[in-house]
Amino acid sequence: MALAVLTHLDIRTASERVSDEERQLRMTNPGFGKVFTEHMVTIRYTDEKGWERGLLQPYGPLMLDPASSVLHYGQAIFEGFKAYHQPDGSVKTFRPFANAQRFNQSAERLAMPQLPEEIFVEAADALIREDRAWVPTAVGESLYLRPLMIATEAALGVKPSHEYLFVLFASPAGSYFSGGVKPVTVWISEDYVRAAPGGTGFAKCAGNYAASLIAQKQAQGEGCDQVVWLDAVHRKYIEEMGGMNIFFVYNESGRTVVVTPELTGTLLPGVTRRSILELARELGFDAEERKISVDEWGAALKEGRMTEAFACGTAAVITPIGHAKSKHGEWTVNGGRTGPVAAKLREALLNVQHGLAPDTHGWMHEVG
Ligand SMILES: *Cc1c(COP(=O)(O)O)cnc(C)c1O
Repeated sequence: MALAVLTHLDIRTASERVSDEERQLRMTNPGFGKVFTEHMVTIRYTDEKGWERGLLQPYGPLMLDPASSVLHYGQAIFEGFKAYHQPDGSVKTFRPFANAQRFNQSAERLAMPQLPEEIFVEAADALIREDRAWVPTAVGESLYLRPLMIATEAALGVKPSHEYLFVLFASPAGSYFSGGVKPVTVWISEDYVRAAPGGTGFAKCAGNYAASLIAQKQAQGEGCDQVVWLDAVHRKYIEEMGGMNIFFVYNESGRTVVVTPELTGTLLPGVTRRSILELARELGFDAEERKISVDEWGAALKEGRMTEAFACGTAAVITPIGHAKSKHGEWTVNGGRTGPVAAKLREALLNVQHGLAPDTHGWMHEVG
């Protein structure tokens, strides 16, 4: 057992490590979120003392009082970002400060405390350094970091908790959807909404996902892979696909225009979404953020103005949409195949993340 001291963290490493052989075995086709590394970080918060010193410790179960308010009233937020092996042997995370910032926006909406961004990033750096052997080296693979915060005060009164726990753990990730980048079929949900104005749509909170699962189940019942969410008020503007942001590609008299729904407060402001908007402009495409209705989607396809649709997020990077279905009909996008614009954007983003293209934006953070 080794003890070391960082600015905000103490380190207590596992006394027995997984053998190289066993680790290799677990890292072969890890899928998404099923294999976890050997350590995790926990940091406690109380209203009186603020954030205490954190602890990097062996990965394992948490002890929670059954009255912990997270279990009843759902104050729970999370984040997701990735660390990538670099050609020079170093490891870098992609835009971790953007995730730290969004974590705090989610915290604010759920009446939870702010976690200083440098603690968020230091916790990730320390965990990655400790479990560096778990960072996959192949392009398309990465180490997924999962930070979360829950309300831990044992009190049944309905009010913001006075105590919280920050937890960070990591999981080696192959590609998110098994079978590689295969275009998905989506179900346009008219029975359920993900987020309403004034609600928590922009926050990465656990409750948003809990409320979405029934729609995902319905989509699968309709033979689809994923749900497409519409706005809660008009039930006609496209918002997101499952837990990913969505993009459409238009051919407007020879110009390639990449369009994504504008952020209205009911959409999750994805870091991948933001990065793709920037990369699209650099690749010479036009990029727009605006409202897009389901009717426009269908009409633009019919008129041949829309050439591709795809979704994006940290976990799966870019996922092409091949078919869309609703109660009123169905249509095919780009013959059900991955389009050239989605492929180009995916490659451009992966190249920056894996250190195969220059990081002109300062997006990559050296773990050290
Ligand atoms: C996390 C998430 C996204 C994607 O955000 P990234 O920062 O790109 O990973 C999109 N939509 C929802 C609902 C999400 O939870």
